Amino acid sequence: MSAALTIGVLSLQGGVAEHLAALARVDGVRGVPVSKASELGSVDAIILPGGESTAIGRLLRDFGMADPLRERIAAGLPAWGTCAGMILLAKDIDNDDRRHVGLMDISVRRNAYGGQLSSFDASAVIDGLGERPFPLVFIRAPVITRTGPAVEVLASLDGRAIACVQGAMAATSFHPELTRDERFHRWFAALARREA
Ligand code: GLN
Repeated sequence: MSAALTIGVLSLQGGVAEHLAALARVDGVRGVPVSKASELGSVDAIILPGGESTAIGRLLRDFGMADPLRERIAAGLPAWGTCAGMILLAKDIDNDDRRHVGLMDISVRRNAYGGQLSSFDASAVIDGLGERPFPLVFIRAPVITRTGPAVEVLASLDGRAIACVQGAMAATSFHPELTRDERFHRWFAALARREA
């Protein structure tokens, strides 16, 4: 078997432990927390977790990680953003003047499935994950309002994209790490092995 793939989880704020626990259930993958720019050099891929995009974005700048992270992802480091992490990756945020990593050609609208109380469960078939519907957990989730020509939509709910991929970057508006279904983590590991 090939050497273990090291997947970093940006650990400044948000659902870090849940992603690390999901990665621990994927064969051939080692999940590690990443909270310093120097640690970016030793991962094969990175997950930007859910949480609060404004807080994570501010901590990225305060800790001098914003530019190194952007440069690594721009240079091809496979990256997957869940929820707030997707907001960090997006080129455009319809209802926020801030931009964070800003490399994925999607527009998102923060909290657009409703307010604080609008968290909900659903399920959908996701391209590449087989025919069994994937459990979807939405928590104050952003809506993807635009996908650029290079972006492939992997799943939609009520006519709106909820999972997409552009080269080595992936984004989901929901939280696979909060379920016991690790198919999306395994899919990202395969993408990372292909793109790394
Ligand atoms: N509402 C959060 C934000 O705008 C995202 C929520 C989440 O990551 N679960 O950053």
